Amino acid sequence: MSRVYNFSAGPSMLPDAVLDKAMRGLRDYQGSGMSVLELSHRSKEFRQIIERAEQALRRLMDIPAEYSVLFLQGGASTQFAMVPMNLSRPAAVQAYVNTGNWSRRAIAEARLFGEAAVVASSADRNFSYVPRGFGVPADASYLHITSNNTLEGTRFGEFPDAGSVPLVADMSSEILSREIDVTRFGLIYAGAQKNIGPAGLTIVIVRTDLVGKHARQVPTMMRYDVHCEAQSLYNTPACYAVYVAGLVFEWLEQLGGVPAIAALNEAKAAVLYDFLDRSRLFGSSVARADRSVMNVPFTTPSDELNEKFLAAAEAVGLVTLRGHRLVGGMRASIYNAMPIEGVRTLTDMMQQFEDENARS
Ligand code: PMP
Repeated sequence: MSRVYNFSAGPSMLPDAVLDKAMRGLRDYQGSGMSVLELSHRSKEFRQIIERAEQALRRLMDIPAEYSVLFLQGGASTQFAMVPMNLSRPAAVQAYVNTGNWSRRAIAEARLFGEAAVVASSADRNFSYVPRGFGVPADASYLHITSNNTLEGTRFGEFPDAGSVPLVADMSSEILSREIDVTRFGLIYAGAQKNIGPAGLTIVIVRTDLVGKHARQVPTMMRYDVHCEAQSLYNTPACYAVYVAGLVFEWLEQLGGVPAIAALNEAKAAVLYDFLDRSRLFGSSVARADRSVMNVPFTTPSDELNEKFLAAAEAVGLVTLRGHRLVGGMRASIYNAMPIEGVRTLTDMMQQFEDENARS
C-alpha cells in the first residue's frame, strides 16, 4: 500500500523523514546495540534524548528560563484536572471560556475542584466563532482557553487579555503551528499526537513560580512541582514518544522553525478555504475571522452526499476525512506534517466531485 494523505485529527501524519529516522533507532540506537525502545529512562542515552528534546522545544517556541517544560503522560484530558488541582486557590473562581467540546470537558473537570465560571461562550451560535472582549474577575485563579478547537474548526487569532490572571491554554491541536508569545501564558499544555509526535506524551510549559502552591492534597503524580523538580523523570516517562518528539523538533528546526511552518500552514489553509469559499457544493459554517488553520470542518448539503464524498476520497488515498461524531460532515486536519500537495490533491478531488454532483 502506498502512503496516503491522512487528514486525521489525531493521532495524525508524521513527516516521512522522522519515520525513517525513527525506524533506524528502533533497531539500533546510535550504535548502542540496543533499540531506543530498550533504553532505561535513567541511561545516559535517554537523558540526552530528553534534554535535547527540551532544548529544541525551548528554541522553537522561544521559551524563557522562568518556564519549565514537562514531558508527561495522560493526554490533554489529564491536564483538564491537573490545572485546577494545582493552580486553583481556595475561594477564588476558576475562569473558563467555552468554545466547544474540549472546553466543556475542561470545565467539567474544574468543577470537581471548585467553582468554574464560564466568563464567555460561543454556545449561542453552535461554537462557530470565538468570543472577544469579555471581562475576567481580577481575583480568578486563572483563565482557561482552548486556543484551537479541533472539532469546531475555530481558533483564537488573538489571545484574550487576562490582566494579571494567569492565562492557561489547551494548545493540543495547534502547538508549534504558529508563533506565539509564551510570556503571555501561565501554562500551556498539549497532547503530542497532532503536531508533536506519537500519542502517550503530553507537553506542559508552565511558569515555574506558579507551581508548588496547591491549596489541597494533590496525588504525587498529579503535581507539577514534582515533575518540575525531577525534570520529567519522577517516574518512567513515555520514552519512545519523547524520542520521536525530539526527531519532530529537529525536523522543524531544519525546516526553518515555527515562522517557516506557520507560513506553510497559512498557505495550506488558504488553498482549502479559498476552494470552500468558491464552491457550489461544499461549505463551512465557521466565522471567517476565527477559522482554524489546523482543522477545517466542511460539509455538502446532504448526509448522503457526505457519505458518497468520503467513500470517493478514500478510494483515491485521501483518508480519515470523516468529521467528529458530534459534528458530522467532513473535517480535514492539516497539521504541520501534512504537505501542501496533500491539500491540493484534496481540493482537486473536491472540485471533481463538485463538477459531478452539484446541481447547476
Ligand atoms: N484538547 C483538545 C483541543 C483536543 O483536540 C484533544 C484531543 N483531540 C484533547 C484535548 C484530548 O486530548 P487527549 O486525547 O490527549 O486526552
